[in-house]
Amino acid sequence: MIPWIDLQAQYQTIREDIRAALDRVLDSGQYVLGDEVHQFEEEFAAYAGARYGIAVNSGTSALHLALLAAGIGPGDEVITVPNTFVATVAAIQYAGAKAVLVDVDAQTLTLAPAKLEAAITERTKAILPVHLYGHPADMAPIREVAQAHDLTVIEDAAQAHGAEYQGQRIGSIGDYGCFSFYPSKNLGAYGEAGLVTTNDDKAAERLRMLRDWGQSRKYHHDMAGFNYRMDGFQGAVLRVKLRHLETWTEARRTHAAHYNELLADSGLMLPVEAEGCRHVYYVYVVRSERRDALQAHLAEQGIHSGIHYPHPVHLEQGYPGLGAAGDFPVAEAACQQVLSIPMYPELSAAQVETVATAIKDFQAS
Ligand SMILES: *Cc1c(COP(=O)(O)O)cnc(C)c1O
Repeated sequence: MIPWIDLQAQYQTIREDIRAALDRVLDSGQYVLGDEVHQFEEEFAAYAGARYGIAVNSGTSALHLALLAAGIGPGDEVITVPNTFVATVAAIQYAGAKAVLVDVDAQTLTLAPAKLEAAITERTKAILPVHLYGHPADMAPIREVAQAHDLTVIEDAAQAHGAEYQGQRIGSIGDYGCFSFYPSKNLGAYGEAGLVTTNDDKAAERLRMLRDWGQSRKYHHDMAGFNYRMDGFQGAVLRVKLRHLETWTEARRTHAAHYNELLADSGLMLPVEAEGCRHVYYVYVVRSERRDALQAHLAEQGIHSGIHYPHPVHLEQGYPGLGAAGDFPVAEAACQQVLSIPMYPELSAAQVETVATAIKDFQAS
């Protein structure tokens, strides 16, 4: 059996360090925020090339607070994409704003900058591109449009820790970078966790207050806030894991290159790495007109796969009013074709070959 992702395999490689880190937190009594979380904030901000990191309790909270820190609320519009995890759109709605969707580029499946202008109104306040699958959105033209219209840029970097765009780490390119450390993400906690990066000291201050009940100091509630604090265990775990992230990312990239080579003439559409970009392969996504049959064939061979995501957000029942079928043809077609095949650092070259052979057998059938 080859799973789509194997969290226990990774844990076994760092077991002793993790247990020691958890013991440190238990002994310290700092179970919410505390030293481990604060040190992680500094270490992760440095990793992402940003001045400040504000740790929170999920990627969704990171998005919600970035929007609030940017002053976005009822009556405002925020532009994002349909083919993302629902949290991107949900966070805009939590802030009281309206999500306005634009279609994506057919190659990278990230926000198509050419389609931005047509979506901008006098209510537009921000653009929220998603670095989908670990590949950076095309940030230079997005920033140009944002500058021309005085819009905030909030990066959904939940899938893209360590990805780079024209030599710059994502999370430091827009005004805010929002990371998730959900266990399956490239840098995963052992529970829920997230973080916002920013280079703006005032914004960092607002974010710190918002995540902790709007307090400037204990029991001084200068603004309405939230209980969005990261807990001490997650900070300690993430510090241990951050030290391995580059090695793990390079392993993902090696597996991706291996898949690329083995599947080059398979007839499937393979992921692209745009010029000047570093893809970090949160998932390795192939596209097929016969996706469901391919997935079933792999399952018969004991190979697990995933679909990110089967429905664009505007066609989900829980998110009405964002658009009708046919409004975003590139994203809609992608949702029917995408398949995430096994991808995690601990995969072996032999496993990559087994998966590729099973795919090629299906393609030849
Ligand atoms: C995982 C994810 C989120 C939400 O992060 P959580 O930590 O699960 O709240 C947001 N956006 C995208 C693109 C994600 O993949």
